[in-house]
Amino acid sequence: MALSSPLRSSELEVLSYPVARMIVSCIGDDYLIRRYALAEAKAAHEALIGERQNILATMGQEFGMNIDISEQRFRLHFTDYVRYAHRMHDPGWKLVNRRLQSGWLSLSGREFTRLLQEAIRDRIQQDLPLDIPSETGICDKLSEHIAIVKESLGARKTEFEMGGEVDSGAFPPCIANAITMLQGGVNLAHSARFATTAFLRNIGMSVDDIVGMFGGSPDFDETRTRYQVEHIAGQEYTAPGCDTMKTYGNCVGADDLCKRVAHPLNYYRIKKRGKGSGGSAGAAQASVRQTA
Ligand code: SF4
Repeated sequence: MALSSPLRSSELEVLSYPVARMIVSCIGDDYLIRRYALAEAKAAHEALIGERQNILATMGQEFGMNIDISEQRFRLHFTDYVRYAHRMHDPGWKLVNRRLQSGWLSLSGREFTRLLQEAIRDRIQQDLPLDIPSETGICDKLSEHIAIVKESLGARKTEFEMGGEVDSGAFPPCIANAITMLQGGVNLAHSARFATTAFLRNIGMSVDDIVGMFGGSPDFDETRTRYQVEHIAGQEYTAPGCDTMKTYGNCVGADDLCKRVAHPLNYYRIKKRGKGSGGSAGAAQASVRQTA
């Protein structure tokens, strides 16, 4: 292929993968790695939908799954199922809602492909960052692209002022209210729990600290709570915006600053900045493939 030939999109797709991995590795940011792995896994999932069963099963075996095909369905051992399905939010994925036969369960092609997405995500994430010795000069050669990705990542981090010291005095009224209720033993609706958990994760709070905060809830079950918080953390959910909060009745105690924002994270950023606190890190939605 002559270098001057324009690349087809399929060729670009193939070439972008190793280059994106190198860019991500040169930057070495944990958040970027997680987001990148998730984006690649989602893209792979899209490409795998409708793929032949034997190809999907072979992929599953490559990831160490005990799998076979029976009557057009996938049979998977429950230990492999739980390894990936425990992150899924929908109750239909819970093991208690599946039919087990001697430790095996049956999955549709769509369900199995979704599990493969999680396996792919884990594999990509585990393999990064790559070890790129400085003497190869690879990071220097990619410096132009690295700068673009870093700028995008930095902008996202600044956008929400994530990480650094968590400043509870800058929490928006909706989140402050939810936390007060939790700590007072009031049972929060699922949507409010989700919003609170996602918000606290987005501003950089650890899973342990969030689980500890939920401890006042009357139906507090540490194992279940940890499972839910880890799921939200693992999926990198962004907290819902004000419109969604209002729809679910979770916008409580709006104040003057609320009139200027459309998202609780923006409220936090503005208030935290106004109080003169430093700190940043955060919610990069860096699309490495696009930027690179
Ligand atoms: S307007 Fe937005 S930030 Fe303010 S309380 Fe309602 S949901 Fe929270």
